[in-house]
This record gives sequence, structure tokens and C-alpha cells, in this order.
Amino acid sequence: EAFNLIAFTETLIEEFEDLKKVGQTINLQCKLTSIKVFLDVKLLKHIIYNLVSNAIKYSEEHQDININITIKNQLVCIEIKDKGIGIPTEDQNNMFQRFYRANNASNIQGTGLGLNIVKQYTELMDGTINFKSKINEGSIFYIEFPLNQKQNE
Ligand code: ATP
Ligand code: MG
Repeated sequence: EAFNLIAFTETLIEEFEDLKKVGQTINLQCKLTSIKVFLDVKLLKHIIYNLVSNAIKYSEEHQDININITIKNQLVCIEIKDKGIGIPTEDQNNMFQRFYRANNASNIQGTGLGLNIVKQYTELMDGTINFKSKINEGSIFYIEFPLNQKQNE
């Protein structure tokens, strides 16, 4: 079923009211007001929910989270960026393994399952996931999905 990805994301952001730390804002940055997509809503919701939850959890109070949605070469790209603890270089190759947790996350609660599930769901939707991260500076996770051809008919 087709839906507007921008409106969907705006609504999803409201669900983080209780999870957010003091002074954290989740900003949606997008030049477009509507992007019609034919994606699996349930899977997409899990994916964004997990990534934004991580961004909140691995950031401090007053550190904002930015979501950016762009379209390029028939791909829709969703970026989730935080200014949190970051991921140490030596852990970065293992982030999508089940139960893997980075060294600097040991005193923050988690099971290490979220990202593994996010990757599986992204691939089920013919998408890809990548990230860039720097310890003590922050992380940015990118998910990309092909825009359905129907979009342009
Ligand atoms: P959960 O299963 O509850 O999500 P988790 O958050 O520990 O537990 P993942 O979401 O799979 O597990 O993340 C795996 C690890 O990747 C985390 O333990 C943390 O070390 C690191 N990580 C993930 N997202 C971020 C982020 N935004 N900033 C810093 N580290 C992150
Ligand atoms: Mg997690």
C-alpha cells in the first residue's frame, strides 16, 4: 500500500516523546513535503524505531537527533544522525552481528539485537544499511530503498 513517507516519519517521531532525554529534539529535515512510497509499513516502522531509539539511548541530554530524507537515483535515503558516544573504530565491523555491543556501550543497557534485526528487515525490503561513526562525536545511520517504479507512472 502506498503512503507518504514524510507524514509517516512525522507521526513516528511523536512516539518518542516518552523515550527522549531532557532537552533532546528529534528534527526531520526534508525539502520535500511528500514522498510517495510503496514500502512495508510495519518493517519500516521497526527499522526507524530501532535506529532512533539507539540515537536517543547513545546520546546525552540536550543532544539533538536529526533525520534527513532524500531521493537520489531512484533511491530513497533515510539518515538518522546523533551527536552521541559514537562507535569505536575497532567495533565497527561487527555492529550488525547478533548480540554484539561496542566497548563504550557496556554501561548502557541493551541486548545487541536491534541492529541485527534492522539489517534483516532492511534487506527484506530490498534496501541497504550503512553507517559512519566517530567515538565521542556521534553516528549517522543511512538506509536506502529503491523507489517503486509505480511512483513515476
Ligand atoms: P537492543 O537490542 O536493545 O537494541 P543494543 O542497543 O545494545 O540493544 P543494537 O541496537 O543492536 O543493540 O546496537 C548494537 C551496538 O551498537 C550497541 O550496543 C552500541 O554499542 C552500538 N550502537 C548502535 N547504535 C549506536 C549509536 N547510535 N551510537 C553509538 N553506538 C551505537
Ligand atoms: Mg538498540
